[in-house]
Amino acid sequence: MKILTVVGNRPQFIKAAAVSGLLRAEHEEILVHTGQHYDDALSSVFFAELGLSAPEHELGIGGGSNTSQTARMLAALEPLLEETVPDAVLVYGDTNSTLAGALAAAQRGVPVAHVEAGMRSFDRSMPEELNRVLCDHMSELLLCASHTAAENLRRESVAGRVEVVGDVMVDVALRWQPAARADRAAPGAYGLDPGSYLLLTAHRAGNVDEPERLRALVRLVAALPEPVLFPAHPRTRARLQSTGLLAELERLEGVRLAEPLGYVEFSALVCNARAVLTDSGGVQKEAYLAGVPCITLRSTTEWVETVDAGWNTLVDLDVERALAALERPMPVDHPRLYGDGRAAERCVAAIGTLAS
Ligand code: UDP
Repeated sequence: MKILTVVGNRPQFIKAAAVSGLLRAEHEEILVHTGQHYDDALSSVFFAELGLSAPEHELGIGGGSNTSQTARMLAALEPLLEETVPDAVLVYGDTNSTLAGALAAAQRGVPVAHVEAGMRSFDRSMPEELNRVLCDHMSELLLCASHTAAENLRRESVAGRVEVVGDVMVDVALRWQPAARADRAAPGAYGLDPGSYLLLTAHRAGNVDEPERLRALVRLVAALPEPVLFPAHPRTRARLQSTGLLAELERLEGVRLAEPLGYVEFSALVCNARAVLTDSGGVQKEAYLAGVPCITLRSTTEWVETVDAGWNTLVDLDVERALAALERPMPVDHPRLYGDGRAAERCVAAIGTLAS
């Protein structure tokens, strides 16, 4: 089979790194990088570290509103689909690249396989939630990380075939976390000791685009009782800069601001943190897998199992709730969620059935 894969941002490179090698062992893959994330820190470092093949096509489409970005991607993908004539299009997650890849394929009658289908925060104000719902209803093959995700799809009566395969991001995390955990020297690069710092990431539009929310985030960071390492996403850094909050954050004694990190270093810093504070989907799971408490800076999550298991607490941007969550002892039980590290194999097997 000839499979055209559309990726465009950091978590998609990580997910594709789990699947692409296995896919290429059995099929022809054409990797398309839309350009949604294009700088080294958010893009090329992941290809280099995780062994993802260089993209066959780079569309160079970044910036602009969600609508204009998606529209430009659609316009670029249409001729590419016409030229390459794939048997299926593979998309990951919930970004503009996911939506554009799925829509361009569906409009040409090319079957769509969606990895990480069925995730729902039930918050339609999130651009990602809109992308998830729309993509799932255009997909022929819906590859789910959990039974909760599959249940969401059944409730929505999607037209495609639903399979629970596990989470491909877990495949990557399970492979890298043993070395990451052993890398006790990693925090030292920031003057930090293992087990006694907090790792922070934040980049969701809902947290960083409105100055009031961003101010609440900075207030929360200022109240944290332990040193904080904050590898700031470029979107967040730009918003902090334009609101004057960057200087405020830089003045906080306990806060170390850094550039976005590569996967290997970031994993070591997750594994050795006392706790993680984040609004990222992927980081919630990685903290759980590492057995590190997670405080999620949102009021909803798609990764509900981590909350149900007691290892993840949703605090939105509430200082008191965040401080209370930091004090809370973690449960003894740490059930295996989201699969056994072999989700990518199941994805490739399921994609193979699309040919028949
Ligand atoms: N990540 C990274 N470096 C960083 C921050 C995050 O490598 O400085 C990785 C992290 O390990 C996870 C992924 O990026 O695998 C999560 O991506 P992101 O938070 O951008 O997206 P989301 O998961 O929220 O869609």
